[in-house]
Amino acid sequence: LGAALFAVSLTLPLASCGGVGDAAQDTGENGTIGISMPTQSWERWVQDGDNMVQELEDAGYGTDLQYAEDVVEDQVAQIENMITKDVDALVIAAVDGESLTEVVDSAAENDIQVIAYDRLIRGTENVDYYATFDNFEVGVLQARYIEETLDLENEEGPFTIELFGGSPDDNNAYFFYDGAMSVLQPYIDDGVLDVVSGQTDMEQIATMRWDGAKAQERMDNLLSSHYSDEDLDAVLSPFDGISTGVISSLKGVGYGSEDKPMPVITGQDAEVASVKSIIAGEQTQTVFKDTRDLAKVASEMADAAVQGEEPEVNDTESYDNGEKVVPAYLLEPVSVDEDNYEEELLESGYYEESDLQ
Ligand code: BGC
Repeated sequence: LGAALFAVSLTLPLASCGGVGDAAQDTGENGTIGISMPTQSWERWVQDGDNMVQELEDAGYGTDLQYAEDVVEDQVAQIENMITKDVDALVIAAVDGESLTEVVDSAAENDIQVIAYDRLIRGTENVDYYATFDNFEVGVLQARYIEETLDLENEEGPFTIELFGGSPDDNNAYFFYDGAMSVLQPYIDDGVLDVVSGQTDMEQIATMRWDGAKAQERMDNLLSSHYSDEDLDAVLSPFDGISTGVISSLKGVGYGSEDKPMPVITGQDAEVASVKSIIAGEQTQTVFKDTRDLAKVASEMADAAVQGEEPEVNDTESYDNGEKVVPAYLLEPVSVDEDNYEEELLESGYYEESDLQ
């Protein structure tokens, strides 16, 4: 699908390539939905955008899909533009969940309902619904994978581990971290796991904008400062792009050879490059979140909102954005490694075999 989807995304209106100018906007019989996505740098968001357009078109809507390429001001401008064009609802995956308060409030003043997509929008009561995965569970799955692979329940260790966090401006990052620490903290407290750097707080381990290059730099520093005399057994990584940076750093000092095996390295999103890395025995695990399902949930929410109906939600307590608890629909994430990637990613039709070659 990598190739296929990229081909599809390249045929989308040029406006989706990050410009903040006039978008080519298709109107449908039921109205138009503005879709604001964070970046095209990672496949998952490209798939999210393409799947949303498909779902909404099938439901009789026109769409205005824009990518902000991780620039907060561009995302705000793109959403303002959608409001000016009077879209019927907005579906937004925030670049920075704290920076959309004003523009979301302005959508509400114009009677446009807002659905937060994957990432919570904080600091405003005008987020109507939230479609996402069980983000705490994502962290639990990553940490459990480390627990099971190192057999922490039965081994005394100590095993060495370093922790990486997601972007501090993304609410999800804290859920991933909290979920992971709910499993790992007891082992750290008992000395079964040793975070040799001592860096365990989110402030110390966060990776701004999920940037793999920043993670690589941090891993370089950790290795040279703390691992000249011992090997690293595990890395908690919340996202495939971060895992890729970490792996480059590890390879740079000789990990991945017969006598210096790669540590256990987690990830998230089942990005093609990371699935290939798993098959090649470098990255160990990823968390697969089927963007087809998320797009389905989010477009049903948008449709219901536009039709004046109540969308289906299954969580009304987990996601407090500082102003209100946003009613949410949470999907189940799935842990994927070399043993089940074929079933989860190929048999499900998410990828074609040729994508992974
Ligand atoms: C998403 C993850 C993604 C990360 C980086 C998070 O908000 O939930 O799926 O890995 O952003 O793009």
